[in-house]
Amino acid sequence: MNTPAQDVALHVLCEQLQKIHQQAEIAGLFIGDRELLDCTHCGLQEDVLIDGRLVTHQADAADATDSGLRFAVADDGNFVCPQCGAVIAGDFFA
Ligand SMILES: [Zn+2]
Repeated sequence: MNTPAQDVALHVLCEQLQKIHQQAEIAGLFIGDRELLDCTHCGLQEDVLIDGRLVTHQADAADATDSGLRFAVADDGNFVCPQCGAVIAGDFFA
């Protein structure tokens, strides 16, 4: 059982963590809250660089250079491929 002071501290910590997640996403970092996306229609797939940045490239590309495209999250939690428009189910971790 938590004391009221512990509850307040936990709440503040959760807010700080949420803010850090938002800042990481703005910076283009992948925070690992879901599976990486892979469009089976056109072959565009996500990848994470060693420095944590999220990139996309063609699955069959030899050099895997970042295309600059990013999958867009829809209101229903699915994603839209920026290259072909296919809807891909988002697989978020609980
Ligand atoms: Zn696609």
